[in-house]
Amino acid sequence: MSAVEDAALDAYLAPRVRPRTRLVLEASGSPLAPTASRFGGVPYLEVGEEWPECVCDRPMSFICQLDVRGTEVGERLPFALCAFYFCWECFPQDPEPGPWTLRTYADPRDDQAIAVDLPEGIDVTTPCAVELEDARSLPVWEGQARDAPEALELARAADPESPWTAYHAACERVAGPQDIESAIGGYPHWLQGDDQPDGGVLVATIDSEADARISWGDCGAVYLFLTPDGPRMVLQSL
Ligand SMILES: [Zn+2]
Repeated sequence: MSAVEDAALDAYLAPRVRPRTRLVLEASGSPLAPTASRFGGVPYLEVGEEWPECVCDRPMSFICQLDVRGTEVGERLPFALCAFYFCWECFPQDPEPGPWTLRTYADPRDDQAIAVDLPEGIDVTTPCAVELEDARSLPVWEGQARDAPEALELARAADPESPWTAYHAACERVAGPQDIESAIGGYPHWLQGDDQPDGGVLVATIDSEADARISWGDCGAVYLFLTPDGPRMVLQSL
């Protein structure tokens, strides 16, 4: 390893850093404002809306809702609030909605929310409040071919034996820890290789969350994208 090559890699990565907003969950039975970000509990629904049903005709489980205003990616999205529902019976792994859905709201307001009862017989996400923390993101090794195309050569120069080690170390020097965790925006920190849908903007990563009793298979994670064709989901697990 050489300090000169490491510095060149750092300098290449620095302008590619994207802010991401980490979601720190805390189990909470306290009532929240209808539009507040949350996992579980009562989702935001407006007059005229029904609880979403899966293609299997069962009501879906409400996973979380996220207020993206004030986040970096939020400025590039055509909605302010999104609510993610998923059918655990079908356990979909396809990117198209049907057994899962992402409801979006351009102008959510607390006084527009309607009261709903949770449907019976569905898996209920344990209600958790969400605290937001600023963090920073760089493409993981599997995603750098698209988002940081010159990084491969620079990483090889820094460590010919193990360029991915040099790359990962540079990412952590430049942008801090690059774990897979629930967050709004940033780059997808893939668990199982790059699977980004065409033209997709990463809205959020939803990690398996023990406090909310959400488990995407074996330590899996869900990546929610907005594409020109609508929302898409990628579910990866070990
Ligand atoms: Zn279903």
